[in-house]
Amino acid sequence: MDRITDLLAAGRTFSFEFFPPKNDDEQRLLSRTIADLQPLNPSFVSVTYRGGRISRERTTRVVVDLIKNTALTPMAHLTCVAHPRFELGEILGGFRAVGVENLLALGGDPLPAEESYKELEYASELVELGRRTGFGSIGVAAHPAGHPRSPDLVSDRDRLASKLELADFAITQFFFKLEEYERLREDLAARRVTKPVLAGIMPITSLTSVLHMAQLSGYAVPDDIVKRITAGGDDPQEIRKRGIDVAVELCSDLLTAGVPGLHFYTLNFSKATREIYTRLRLVPD
Ligand code: FAD
Repeated sequence: MDRITDLLAAGRTFSFEFFPPKNDDEQRLLSRTIADLQPLNPSFVSVTYRGGRISRERTTRVVVDLIKNTALTPMAHLTCVAHPRFELGEILGGFRAVGVENLLALGGDPLPAEESYKELEYASELVELGRRTGFGSIGVAAHPAGHPRSPDLVSDRDRLASKLELADFAITQFFFKLEEYERLREDLAARRVTKPVLAGIMPITSLTSVLHMAQLSGYAVPDDIVKRITAGGDDPQEIRKRGIDVAVELCSDLLTAGVPGLHFYTLNFSKATREIYTRLRLVPD
């Protein structure tokens, strides 16, 4: 199985993110999406993790399925939330045992009271645990606008720089303008951190849901982007079309700027990602 560190050393990566299905309908949707996206030959695909026993089973099931039934390279997400240290060690050992080479180590967000337990506080501690469990390819999250729990952007960048010194690469939260990515990269370079930072791409297919997700992650969608999306009225097809235009332009700018990787938040759908691939002429022959 490929390590993302090796893939990044060899060139630019293109990757897709999925979340584990909660029921049979969602499972059918994910299977269809994976089948639709596989011909795009992604460098790797990643599977999110929420925290707690059920999430552990669901994420592991998807990752094992990808290893057994596809030629795709998976990356398992893991958060510090809802598990004591020994259990996180067990989960990491379990991932290694089924052949997972790539880990995205995350702090995670608080869960409902009964599961909000945390023994490891920060993603950086999970990176260290991952290393001790044998992971040679570990990514972390980066927040171009800063993390909402950070007191200010400077301290957020300092923490990210320290985290990236331990990890191999970062993947950003979604954003919509090249300047947001460039500012992050410059701030890291000023701290002598030059590890690859992959750009997280979320095509706007519904303004309401993107604004909601942005709010949850403490990110303000730039006003001019909102205006551009809504300038054609509130017809859902027009909003979707304008959202895809924004994503295509962003990807194109990022590729020109030399981004080491594009990571698509698919939300378990394939259509928007395939459309962007086609318009950027990224579809393999
Ligand atoms: P951390 O790096 O731990 O940072 C959290 C906060 O603590 C920041 O404010 C940081 O500046 C601060 N901090 C860090 N280290 C220290 C320190 N030593 N001392 C003091 N402060 C410190 N969530 C999920 O639940 N499941 C997923 O699968 C998932 N996947 C994601 C994938 C990507 C690419 C991204 C960008 C995010 C993802 N998230 C996921 C969301 C993520 O868990 C949240 O954003 C979470 O709130 C923070 O995670 P983090 O890894 O950035 O945390």
